[in-house]
Amino acid sequence: MGGLVRIPPWRGKVITKVVAECGALRGSGSEKLMFRRALQLGLRPGLSFRRLGTRRGGSTLDWHGKVAEIKKKIQSALPGDTWDPLYDTSHLPPEHADVVVVGGGVIGLSVAYWLKKLEKKRDAIRVLVVERDSTYSKASTVFSVGGIRQQFSLPENIQLSLFSANFLRNINEYLAVVDAPPVDLQFNPSGYLLLASDKDAAVLENNVKVQRQEGAKVCLMSPEHLRTKFPWINTEGVALASYGMEGEGWFDPWSLLQAFRLKLQSMGVLFSQGEVTRFVTSSTSMETSSGEKVNLKRIYEVHVKMDNSLEYQPVECAIVINAAGAWSGQVAELAGIGMGPPGTLQGIKLPVEPRKRYVYVWHCPQGPGLETPLVADVSRVYFRREGLGCNYLGGRSPTEEEEPDPTNLEVDHDFFQDKVWPHLAKRVPAFNNLKVQSAWAGFYDYNTFDQNGVVGPHPLVVNMYFATGFSGHGLQHAPAVGRAVAEMVLEGHFQTIDMSPFLFSRFYLEEKFQERNIF
Ligand SMILES: Cc1cc2nc3c(=O)[nH]c(=O)nc-3n(C[C@H](O)[C@H](O)[C@H](O)COP(=O)(O)OP(=O)(O)OC[C@H]3O[C@@H](n4cnc5c(N)ncnc54)[C@H](O)[C@@H]3O)c2cc1C
Repeated sequence: MGGLVRIPPWRGKVITKVVAECGALRGSGSEKLMFRRALQLGLRPGLSFRRLGTRRGGSTLDWHGKVAEIKKKIQSALPGDTWDPLYDTSHLPPEHADVVVVGGGVIGLSVAYWLKKLEKKRDAIRVLVVERDSTYSKASTVFSVGGIRQQFSLPENIQLSLFSANFLRNINEYLAVVDAPPVDLQFNPSGYLLLASDKDAAVLENNVKVQRQEGAKVCLMSPEHLRTKFPWINTEGVALASYGMEGEGWFDPWSLLQAFRLKLQSMGVLFSQGEVTRFVTSSTSMETSSGEKVNLKRIYEVHVKMDNSLEYQPVECAIVINAAGAWSGQVAELAGIGMGPPGTLQGIKLPVEPRKRYVYVWHCPQGPGLETPLVADVSRVYFRREGLGCNYLGGRSPTEEEEPDPTNLEVDHDFFQDKVWPHLAKRVPAFNNLKVQSAWAGFYDYNTFDQNGVVGPHPLVVNMYFATGFSGHGLQHAPAVGRAVAEMVLEGHFQTIDMSPFLFSRFYLEEKFQERNIF
């Protein structure tokens, strides 16, 4: 695939960015400057490397409609009515798609939704979502605690939350389907209450300033104010608190996932149950006007291994969206990302991996009651009300040293006893008497570099786009992230929210985009 081609000088500018890293040592200031400048050029719309269209183009036959018709005819001609003369292959992927979304969690579905919603002409884009596990038995989306808040430290994350809050508020304007019942996300608008010790009070105050600048409705509360509004809180060790008054609370993640699925089916998005196991790529060696060589890759075929089978189906495609959540680092590796020599852009991995988080549910008849917001304590233990039967749920992210084994989803009950309950009981004396009723563990899609999302194209594998790594806040940001990725695919740049700081390039540039309000 691909020989050495000489490229015109104007294109050389775009390519310079890639050359800047090839075989180069990391850390040189001028290289990084060059890389940064070239990235800006590279993200302009109309880049031929990022074109939408498969190698052969493709047809969009109404295959399902025709099969159903033929089945009906055969069945009516045969004795008995339960026998199915045709093997149902609706779960198999098609031979080609314009966009293949790897991962059918909330983020992958949101990307698929916005691609169809923003397409210029009806049925212009053929989108295929590939999900390996139809039961979602390990997916982060279904293990999440469903929270949405505006109380982040970075303006971009606050903007994402504001967009998503509006999306969720008007969910039926987006996801309603004719003849289906209206979507009910079971939203609880109870707000988030963040508590800060003396040490963290200034940071909390500054965060609230940023949140208000972005348009979020958040207020600061003194310990006295706290005691009046939430008399069940012991304010010992609390210097300041912030409380979200609008667009904060929690909802049912499963309802959102199902609403997206139903809507996507009505929009003509294709679904396939199988695992993406391989990308077939072509590469193009190029030479910049200054004589530097560069190797760009393009995925042209995705292999989908069918469930309980050794067979795979190749799917020809133009664009791949990596929305594989906690496993997106592994999916990136399939495309060779992170497999190059250390210190080069090819050698930089997508730093997203599964990190196990426990959620405990307890019963406490004397607990704070219906007015309980989601409380994040100074100790980073969090809790909220769960339903209306005096139940609560909560947990705490472990420290680096405490990180549990991420190869299973077993729950460590001692973690609650030793690391969670003491803080709960200190903050809410009524929690001294509680009964743990159940617990579960789920995986954060954890970005080890800066605990923030990764969005947009890879600089070398030019048609792989990321939508991953949100490390515990991906559910609430999914509606906005889906739109951002669709804009980047369709228009070549972000339009609604500038998500350039979330690009993969920051790993090479060693520029952290650190979100501090993570728990
Ligand atoms: C305990 C817990 C609490 C949380 N609380 C919140 C919260 O309050 N608010 C919030 O906003 N976020 C929260 N999160 C985070 C949130 O759940 C995630 O950020 C979000 O769900 C990520 O969505 P996703 O679609 O990227 O990942 P997932 O839901 O994990 O979906 C990815 C899918 O990709 C599939 N996949 C992987 N590899 C392949 C492959 N090779 N081929 C085909 N399919 C593949 C997987 O099967 C999976 O279904 C929480 C997470 C946990 C674990």
